[in-house]
Amino acid sequence: MLKGVIYLDHAATTPVHPLVRREMSLWFTDSYGNPSSMYSVGVEAKSAIEAARKQVAALIGAAPEEIYFTSGGTESDNWALRGIAYASEKKGKHIIISSIEHHAVLDTAEWLGRHGFEITRLPVDGTGLVDPDDVRKALRPDTILVSIMHANNEVGTIEPIPEIGRILRERGVPFHVDAVQTVGNYPLSVNELGCDLLSVSAHKLYGPKGIGALYIRKGIRIDKYMTGGGQESNKRAGTYNVPGIVGLGKACEIALEEMPAHIEPIRKLREKLREGIFSRIADVRLNGHPERRLPNNLSVCVQGIEGESMLLCLDMNRVCVSSGSACTTGSLEPSHVLIAMGLPPEVAHGSLRFTLGRDNTEEQINYVLEVFPTIVKRLRDMSPTYRK
Ligand SMILES: *Cc1c(COP(=O)(O)O)cnc(C)c1O
Repeated sequence: MLKGVIYLDHAATTPVHPLVRREMSLWFTDSYGNPSSMYSVGVEAKSAIEAARKQVAALIGAAPEEIYFTSGGTESDNWALRGIAYASEKKGKHIIISSIEHHAVLDTAEWLGRHGFEITRLPVDGTGLVDPDDVRKALRPDTILVSIMHANNEVGTIEPIPEIGRILRERGVPFHVDAVQTVGNYPLSVNELGCDLLSVSAHKLYGPKGIGALYIRKGIRIDKYMTGGGQESNKRAGTYNVPGIVGLGKACEIALEEMPAHIEPIRKLREKLREGIFSRIADVRLNGHPERRLPNNLSVCVQGIEGESMLLCLDMNRVCVSSGSACTTGSLEPSHVLIAMGLPPEVAHGSLRFTLGRDNTEEQINYVLEVFPTIVKRLRDMSPTYRK
């Protein structure tokens, strides 16, 4: 029997890499100085932060002074939208986002919409893709920001960011990209993407929770987010989370070295899982784009049964997956992403997301392929809506 759990929910969070944990622990014990203090214990912490800034910058092809530490992806998204909105409100009040953004962008835009800004939510096609031409057509003289995610956290579709970036560069409109799902898991650089702001979260790339970064291209005007002390070039106040920052830096360093070698093995395991599920279970549909998708993501809708029921049955077999996204779990609303992709709510309710990581093995996938079809059959036998 397999020990422990089979963790297939890496889009929700990832385990902390042992080397990251080791690097972090020093900054809880031996060196607990405040980086803003002028004595040597503070200076030591300050240099650890600057080393981490370089590690984050190197992974995304930015300059270290363009990296600002935040409390995670959610804060980075909030800061990007609110910070640009309030720095540019004299120029205009129009913001464009996609309809499949993470709630950190979606709900922030909605809030801005209730506070004097005008929001355009672009549609996506059936595979979750935004059409760059739709972005072009939605632009107005008073558009101050466009925010489109790099890869969707639920269905894994990778958006045509470089194409959108070129359009926005021509028009001089700031471009924010939520790259929380891709940074550290998929190669990217801010210049290839053509973005001006980019959100990063450590716990999606084998780093700790509660720490992240916002890339802000030099020359971009943005309001500060937190007010208080003068940390982060007086743009984001708050005493530095030194262990977290060091952990994020280390996770980025490891990703830069090792991620390219992990992509193909993870994709192969994902393909094995996909083929196994589609050959063993009838009436399943793949969500998201068949090719333009994250190598570790398999999102499906299983006809006639609820995602939550499958999740709970898999959990009893010690397999961790998600139905829709972790944030929508617990609510009865079907995923806004699947609805935007045109799925009827009754189909969207049967969604299940498997997201693989670097520690998953073929043995684990074989086990899932053994238990999952049985679970589906049992649930379908009890389902009043499933007709063979
Ligand atoms: C997880 C996630 C976030 C939120 O990041 P946190 O660090 O958990 O706040 C934002 N956007 C996307 C696409 C995510 O997957």
